[in-house]
Amino acid sequence: MKEFVKAQGLPAYRAKQMLHWIYEKKAASIDQITELSKEAREKLSDSDYISNLELLSRQTSKDGTEKFLFGLEDRESIESVLIPDKDRLTLCISSQVGCAMGCSFCLTGKIGFKRNLKAHEIVDQIIAVMRIKGHGSFILRSATENGRGMGQRITNIVFMGMGEPLLNLDEVIEALKRITGLMGISKKRITLSTCGIAPEIPELYKKAPHVNLAISLNAADNKTRDIIMPINKKYPLETLLASCRKIPFSPRIRITFEYVMLDGVNDKPSDAQNLVRILRGIPSKVNLIPFNPYEGSKLKRPSDEKVFAFQKILTNAGMNAFIRKSKGQDILAACGQLKAGYGAKFK
Ligand code: SAH
Ligand code: SF4
Repeated sequence: MKEFVKAQGLPAYRAKQMLHWIYEKKAASIDQITELSKEAREKLSDSDYISNLELLSRQTSKDGTEKFLFGLEDRESIESVLIPDKDRLTLCISSQVGCAMGCSFCLTGKIGFKRNLKAHEIVDQIIAVMRIKGHGSFILRSATENGRGMGQRITNIVFMGMGEPLLNLDEVIEALKRITGLMGISKKRITLSTCGIAPEIPELYKKAPHVNLAISLNAADNKTRDIIMPINKKYPLETLLASCRKIPFSPRIRITFEYVMLDGVNDKPSDAQNLVRILRGIPSKVNLIPFNPYEGSKLKRPSDEKVFAFQKILTNAGMNAFIRKSKGQDILAACGQLKAGYGAKFK
């Protein structure tokens, strides 16, 4: 921004102002930056603009979860999901258009990989949702759809939408810098989820040490994981868990392991026992996510009894294990159901 401001012939102090107007006040156009003179705004607008995502559609689930479909400048599209909970409002954002990882249970994986998102496209999801919901400055309030004013603010950000964030690490790190440094969202309230790109895990910790990490484990032995998550052939469980063990754990850090429960695939008592064994010694908690079905998928969600029995084996072994009933299933906004309008063929 300093370079930009200099190149535009504006005084250096304008750089900070511009960032403040873009990231805190959420100005949607240069013209809204009224701290600049009209002439300066006109001159800047001749050559530059503030990027905006285009809201293509918005759906609300009966449980209050909202899904936003955003159009990008090259006509690709992505989804973001806003999930209300008692004392939290979590925004789930995408890091790529589609995903190359092809996990058998995930609808995003069926799209295939289209492209990485740029840092601004990652951050713009947060800004766009804040604008739509009217959170923030006076610009936002006046631009709110119905003038209802400010609602509950976003408290948490999760990189659990479309894409594999560790395969777009540079842009994700840059986005994290802007989210924490310029938008004032605490790193402690940000969670990044990965399917297990083992060598990038230490990189992430080097560059963004306080971000929470979630690993989509989904199986406790290589044979099962190879089948449902092809990335396991490249980074098998031993490699993945070895890089988790290398994380410089402080008392606050623990890894969340996500475990999508698939009927007859990974939900046996022996799977739970294996899970206890392979996670031993890693400060962690386990989130069990019963499979969210979608049309065309042959996979099934296990019965509640099976899920409870699985959880009990983990808790009896002293682990923290929670069952996460995904929200927004009726609008395909739950974990692994994002497809951003892309047609998908199923196996
Ligand atoms: N690519 C990253 C970030 C996406 S997070 C990752 O895989 O971690 C998406 C989460 O939803 C993952 O934990 C994944 O295991 C889970 N998931 C995918 N499809 C699902 C489905 N159909 N039902 C329940 N959870 C699913
Ligand atoms: Fe990609 Fe994650 Fe879905 Fe696997 S679960 S296909 S890594 S988005």
